[in-house]
Amino acid sequence: MIYEEVRSFYQCFGGKKCVIGYSCQGREIYAFHLGRETCAQFIAVYAVHAREWITARLALRHIKTGLQRGGGWVIPLLNPDGALISQTAYPLWKANARGVDLNCNFDADWGSGRLNTKIRGGENCMGDYPFSEAEASALRDFTLRIRPYVTLSFHTKGEEIYWEYGGKGDKNGAELLEKITGYTAKRIYGSAGGYKDWCIQKLNIPAYTIECGSDSLAHPIKKLGELKKCYKLLKIFIENYGKQA
Ligand SMILES: [Zn+2]
Repeated sequence: MIYEEVRSFYQCFGGKKCVIGYSCQGREIYAFHLGRETCAQFIAVYAVHAREWITARLALRHIKTGLQRGGGWVIPLLNPDGALISQTAYPLWKANARGVDLNCNFDADWGSGRLNTKIRGGENCMGDYPFSEAEASALRDFTLRIRPYVTLSFHTKGEEIYWEYGGKGDKNGAELLEKITGYTAKRIYGSAGGYKDWCIQKLNIPAYTIECGSDSLAHPIKKLGELKKCYKLLKIFIENYGKQA
């Protein structure tokens, strides 16, 4: 299972690392440091949605690839409980184990998303209040501690890049991501409460969501090779975006 895969990678990892918090069922949420520590830091998060657990494997690849310039933190598996549900019981499950969609649980116009509901289930449930979920509040606390200059969220699928929220966002980074992946930068409407949305609205930093993999693939994507266009994404993006040395 993907949690065990990330956990054994964590145990063998020689660099700086930490546990940022625990899932609602008590699993550890791991973070790995890449590159330099003395410069402005990025945060990259993967497998926020359960059925998108293949992105955790992409994260491990990004960690192994490393960085020549810049530095920051990689969180491969934000939703370990949900990933287990997707891998063992309900392949299309997106939420955490409490049936809350973590990417609707952040404090950015919380509850105003077009599809938001309070009914627990595999997707679209916004939770009882912003950051009601252990996984979302762990990522909030870690982000407030690191104060990153940019964040990246890796999802599947559709080969699209989202960069804007409420009229704010940095299109330059989206154009760089387009160049790296061949994907298309888009504006989306009717969503709220996402990590990217919160970073842009509340922290005033650029934040990007990358929807990896062709839309013609079925959820859950099981082969990392389907995300080939994103293999070098983190390295090239961080080495070229902004002015951090
Ligand atoms: Zn997603």
